[in-house]
Amino acid sequence: METRILIVEDEEKIGRFLELELQHEGYAVEKAVSGREGLEKAQSGQFDLMVLDVMLPELNGFEVLRRLRKNSDMPVIMLTARDAVMDKVAGLDGGADDYMTKPFAIEELLARIRLILKKRSGGSAKKENSLLTCKGLTMDVKRYEVSYEGDKIELTHREFELLKVLLENKNIVISRDTLLQKVCGYDYLGETNVIDVYVRYLRSKLDDVYNVKWIQTVRGVGYVIKDE
Ligand code: CA
Repeated sequence: METRILIVEDEEKIGRFLELELQHEGYAVEKAVSGREGLEKAQSGQFDLMVLDVMLPELNGFEVLRRLRKNSDMPVIMLTARDAVMDKVAGLDGGADDYMTKPFAIEELLARIRLILKKRSGGSAKKENSLLTCKGLTMDVKRYEVSYEGDKIELTHREFELLKVLLENKNIVISRDTLLQKVCGYDYLGETNVIDVYVRYLRSKLDDVYNVKWIQTVRGVGYVIKDE
């Protein structure tokens, strides 16, 4: 089955260049030239991956991503013109799978696309069980929703992914390194303590609000969610 990639880029030359390169690699390609058009096409669910520029007319790339993540976990690679750490953090925290700083080498972009698609196809085979539960907490993986006794909980993409890994491995202690790898997929600014930060965010939205202890710290090792 052919892989479909959506390119959202308003600069015609770059868009055309990406289209040709991706077609040459055997992908089916469609383009959008504004944030709004890109979001609409992405939400159609017809694409396997989106290459999303940050600087776009109508809606910028971060806003497109934020809206898309409300109901979709399609892989997204952001293109950012500025080599600013803040952009990268905002992009990744907003749920981007990866980012590239312009100007970039096309070979690197192609390699990252291959990597993300491979990771996704490996992961989707295990997604059979779409409902994960623990002590009143329910995660609907397919619908990308988390709730506690019917009360819907808003999580960021990373928080969702972290919680998912812990729920999938209930009663098993997961190391910070493994969590980092599973949640971020690659070296996130080189810091494993980013996981501690996301655990803190999760606890503030779950444990603290509902007064239930879900995420337990195993000192020197990592984290676990236990049934009891
Ligand atoms: Ca642009």
